Amino acid sequence: MLKALNKQLNSFKHEDFTYLKIGTWNLTFEKSLPEYDGIILSSTNDSEIEKTILAIRTHENPTIYLAPIYFLSKTANGLIIHTEGVFNEHKSNEITRSINEKVARITGGQNTAHKSLEIKLMNYLYTRDGKLTPQKNRLILSGYSYPFVDCYYKGEDFEKYKLFKQCIKNEWLTDALEDRVQLCVQCYDSYMIYKETCPKCQSINIQAHDIVHHFPCAHIAPIKQFKKEDEDEMTCPKCDKLLRHIGIDYDKPSVVFSCKNCDNNFQHAEVISECHTCSHQNKLEDLVEVDIKAYKISMNGIMKVEHGTTVINEENSVSDRMKIFEQLVMQEQSRTFIAANSSFVVEIDIQSKLFKILNASFLNQFWKDINDITKNYVSNPIYSCRKEETIYLLMIDKEELAVSNLIEKLRYNLSILLEDNLGSDVTLVIKSQNVNES
Ligand SMILES: [Zn+2]
Ligand SMILES: [Zn+2]
Ligand SMILES: [Zn+2]
Repeated sequence: MLKALNKQLNSFKHEDFTYLKIGTWNLTFEKSLPEYDGIILSSTNDSEIEKTILAIRTHENPTIYLAPIYFLSKTANGLIIHTEGVFNEHKSNEITRSINEKVARITGGQNTAHKSLEIKLMNYLYTRDGKLTPQKNRLILSGYSYPFVDCYYKGEDFEKYKLFKQCIKNEWLTDALEDRVQLCVQCYDSYMIYKETCPKCQSINIQAHDIVHHFPCAHIAPIKQFKKEDEDEMTCPKCDKLLRHIGIDYDKPSVVFSCKNCDNNFQHAEVISECHTCSHQNKLEDLVEVDIKAYKISMNGIMKVEHGTTVINEENSVSDRMKIFEQLVMQEQSRTFIAANSSFVVEIDIQSKLFKILNASFLNQFWKDINDITKNYVSNPIYSCRKEETIYLLMIDKEELAVSNLIEKLRYNLSILLEDNLGSDVTLVIKSQNVNES
């Protein structure tokens, strides 16, 4: 009875959709959330809202971290970028439906926990519009916040740019340059104060003076030598003539600085970029440059989300191709049995511990390169197939000696590629067998 009443108080119904109303976040919401279509933030307290959004978006369970979230009413809260926005009776149910359909596709009805932020980000983008757009934000050190991702980097948001790099390396995202920022080398803040300083003592108490060049007598000196105190007129200290028109009888070809702290005179002031947060005096060449990019989920990223792998098409058809290959071998067995020709199955086994740790796109390319080599040793590409780290070739109508010559060439060519890609941590075993001697 009490439970039913609680449920009523906590829910917000609109047409066929029921939303969980959250004012103050507490852990019991995690259990009840799957019964609802989405979340409505009913609090007007910014820190309560923040606590709720972060608890949801950083959860491990995809039905929770991907849940549609809406603000009940208009807000200036910057965390709105991690939500679907303010609830709108005309549009929001449709958004909720679309998100939940995609969430169901990812999880397949199961609540598998996700710990890798790369995977969670792909899932988030997949269930939204696939785009990750940077937003200018003064409260974020690097000056830009990103939906979803920023929930994971409170304060030290520089790390998120490493996450993006990794996703680009995996080919799960595509990118487009939007801006370029310079960050403090000590704390990665983007809020800098630029100042000209004395190169000798680093004081900011410096003054620039024009250099004056008097044409009639060719005298060149700082402007103060041409001016008497409290006078606007300038007189040449060398020839005593009055200076009249700039560009006609004199000009100002450059400036010279003098330091009021150490009396140093210098031509170029040193520009220092002082960090507003940690006060570190950054030299310009030491600033950390970061490209601010807009990202989009790629085909590979979508495949990763939908199938858990980026090489799904290839992986799926392996067993099919293996079956075809086995049939071809059987055909050859009967054919050569009658014709007294010989055909050989060559088995190439590549073993390396690195296969476990290399990423899918690298391996994809690696096996493509291997295939480019091995296909030259068979008369038709269908006489070649790969299952995991073993490649099978069917060499037709060959003498045994010719086969072993081919194998030696193949071994040589493969070992060059293997060494280039995997270094010395690799074993290559090649065996051959006459199809009629098995
Ligand atoms: Zn100085
Ligand atoms: Zn003069
Ligand atoms: Zn700093």
